[in-house]
Amino acid sequence: MESSSFKDYEKHLDHPLFNNAIQLIEDAGKLIKADPNVIARLKRPKRALSVSVPVRMDNGAVEVFMGFRVQYNSTLGPYKGGVRYHEEVTMGEVTGLASLMMLKNSVLGLPYGGGKGGISVDPNRLSRNEKQSLTRRYTSELGPFIGPNKDIPAPDMGTDSQTMAWMMDTYSQEQGYAQPGVVTGKPVEIGGSLGRVGATGLGAVFVLERLLERNSRTVMGSRIAIQGFGNVGSHAALYSFERGGRVVAVSDVSGGIFNGDGLKIPELIEYIKTNKIVKGFPGSQPISNEDLLALDVDILMPCAMDGVINESNCHTIKAKYVVEGANGPVTNSATKILHEKGIQIAPDIIANGGGVIVSYFEWVQDTMSFFWEEDEINKKLHTIIIKAFDEVWKMSQEKGVHLRAAAMATSVNRLQKAMLLRGLYPR
Ligand code: NAD
Repeated sequence: MESSSFKDYEKHLDHPLFNNAIQLIEDAGKLIKADPNVIARLKRPKRALSVSVPVRMDNGAVEVFMGFRVQYNSTLGPYKGGVRYHEEVTMGEVTGLASLMMLKNSVLGLPYGGGKGGISVDPNRLSRNEKQSLTRRYTSELGPFIGPNKDIPAPDMGTDSQTMAWMMDTYSQEQGYAQPGVVTGKPVEIGGSLGRVGATGLGAVFVLERLLERNSRTVMGSRIAIQGFGNVGSHAALYSFERGGRVVAVSDVSGGIFNGDGLKIPELIEYIKTNKIVKGFPGSQPISNEDLLALDVDILMPCAMDGVINESNCHTIKAKYVVEGANGPVTNSATKILHEKGIQIAPDIIANGGGVIVSYFEWVQDTMSFFWEEDEINKKLHTIIIKAFDEVWKMSQEKGVHLRAAAMATSVNRLQKAMLLRGLYPR
């Protein structure tokens, strides 16, 4: 039974990402005939924290930002998930992302629960000093709740390895000794892992290769369109290009570029180092983000925002395979429609799992104070992500459902087993 005060609390969490996640958990529960008590628990965050983050701006005025950290579930281990700086961050969005982290860590077989954090701020309007003050105060506010064995943040949109360095330093200063394992995605010089920066893009390409292999195809010669050319999109493009994929279009927030013969990705990566955006890359034609999604390609990789492929535009999709580099880029209703059209979607909780897998390696290396070579990291990443994909593929074949449904069911099944073993505290 849900009390009326719970209903008020729910309004606070109302967000399409979280609503989608709840629907997915319910559907997964039906597919595996889960214990209803387990599903009821999985539909709510264990702990949700709001903090105010006052910052003295460069002009001397104090601005107060709202920060959040949601510790969604810790059945399988410490909370783990990124920190997002974006104007539209809300408690509902962070909760949705935290629930996805729980599902992702479980399906990948990692010893982590799920968490996520964020601050409602446009990071582009902050100076470096302001961003540092914001990050340090936010970390200090979270102080009692995070730690290498409690909750381990990482970068997400609007945050990067420098942000993690400030978080690690603030936490360590307050503890009185170095605690590199409190965050992942740090620079290599202070306990970061080799291979972390490109890990999400590389993992997405490993998953793409396996998906194509299951369909007797290869990346070599395939026509690929990628939305988003940030960390995930640019590495997905590079690793696809290196395998002989023809990346015909990419985009960023300013719009996209197209070349039917394939874009020269290493040159494009150099180009954006000085030009910041893909627009104007020599030898390409402009294309809108909406037209990019509808291109006649073999593979579409949405690597920017959530909800970009939805009921209103999914009829325009011509790609046969969609690999979700971003979190939640294809809505639940669009997933059903694309599945009926025979389009296969490699779901986000596996396809973009490379980042958290190498974050796990970083945390393990920090704990041992012993660091691996990049080759070893990439091999271990391949083993974990392919094992998870194969398990999900098998369930999708056995149950006759699409890969997202199978991924969610695999994830919920693992969580259910652990929750029933641990039992309900106090009874
Ligand atoms: P990023 O900030 O490095 O890059 C985002 C890219 O998307 C940029 O090219 C930006 O211009 C573009 N973009 C922003 N708004 C857009 C819009 N409205 N239309 C088209 N393009 C737009 O971020 P990232 O780290 O690459 O993350 C991208 C997505 O991948 C997010 O959903 C994130 O949660 C998810 N993700 C990231 C990681 C990681 O390790 N970085 C891991 C898992 C999932």
